[in-house]
Amino acid sequence: MNEITEYQLVETCLQEKMDNDTTRCNLCLWRCKIAHGQRGFCQAHVNRNGTLYNLSYGILSSIDIDPIEDKPVKHYRPGTRVMSVGSYGCSFRCGGCHNLDISWGVEALDDLAKGESTEVWVTPQSLIDTALRAGVQGIAFTYSEPAVWLEYVIDVSKLAHKAGLYTVYVSNSYITDEALELAAPYIDVLCSDIKSMRDDFYQDICRPAKVKQVLHSIKKAHELGIHVETRTNIIPGKNDNPDEYYEIACWVRDNLGADSPWHITRFFPAYKLSHLPSTPESSLLEAEKAAKRAGLKNIYVYNDKGCDCAEENKPIEAYLNSSAEELHQIKKCAASCCGDEGVLLKKYEINETDKNEGSKL
Ligand code: SF4
Repeated sequence: MNEITEYQLVETCLQEKMDNDTTRCNLCLWRCKIAHGQRGFCQAHVNRNGTLYNLSYGILSSIDIDPIEDKPVKHYRPGTRVMSVGSYGCSFRCGGCHNLDISWGVEALDDLAKGESTEVWVTPQSLIDTALRAGVQGIAFTYSEPAVWLEYVIDVSKLAHKAGLYTVYVSNSYITDEALELAAPYIDVLCSDIKSMRDDFYQDICRPAKVKQVLHSIKKAHELGIHVETRTNIIPGKNDNPDEYYEIACWVRDNLGADSPWHITRFFPAYKLSHLPSTPESSLLEAEKAAKRAGLKNIYVYNDKGCDCAEENKPIEAYLNSSAEELHQIKKCAASCCGDEGVLLKKYEINETDKNEGSKL
């Protein structure tokens, strides 16, 4: 692909044409079937006349720099620092999400779709230059599910490797085999949630994954040679069952190895789970005990932090070598393929107030 120098919709890298200009997105396991003018569940991919495009290529919701241990990743290049970046759009709708504005990013993606966005847009090369200037050793894709802007993740990761930087992919692992295989050569580390061993947890809290789908992707990443570390956020009354801790630990032991790190994190109330208490320390210690019983050798317990959130980040402008005026110019698609319609979507063409979540057929 030619270098992209202005904001534009970029063709979704895994798409499959179907009848009547309907196209299937094969990035994540939603495998959304999307008709002209509609967007997928994540809201970041749109069908224009039978071709799918990613709306969020190069659009950054947040940047931060911290130790790789904060991702959390403990067994890959310890002591180094990463530049973490995220965009808008996610394949899950987690009831306890701390990052709603930037992970789901419905408003930001709507503005992009309407051609009214002033979000920050950064070319892959500028992001690498920014990382090198900051003196970090790696780039992490995090804050929302990286699969929904995989086109950008891959382009940045290729350049990162050329520049001697490693790459970290922080994920829910609700990703297709095809997408994982496409990204694997450029991803060094996967830090994946194993949120539960119960399908009903995934259905109730995150929609729509099944445990076996998530575990399959994690194992596949490991088989593809990616360094994998897993994490479970213990939520009171939801997944704080000692049998479940043991099951997760046994799965990690049997599929990733007894040495594979398992991170046990504390839940802090947010969004639809605001009524729940924070995880008591006793549950975290019980999970650790179960993991030791299962034979895991590297168990990390976090009492102070619930997730790799972006709530306290500095403004993006603080990291980039451009003026705020330049960064926040209106983002209109620079490509001409949509004609005079620009990127306006059916959602707005038909009914401005239609707030349907997702457009999965
Ligand atoms: S949710 Fe988004 S990334 Fe996933 S299949 Fe649907 S359009 Fe593609």
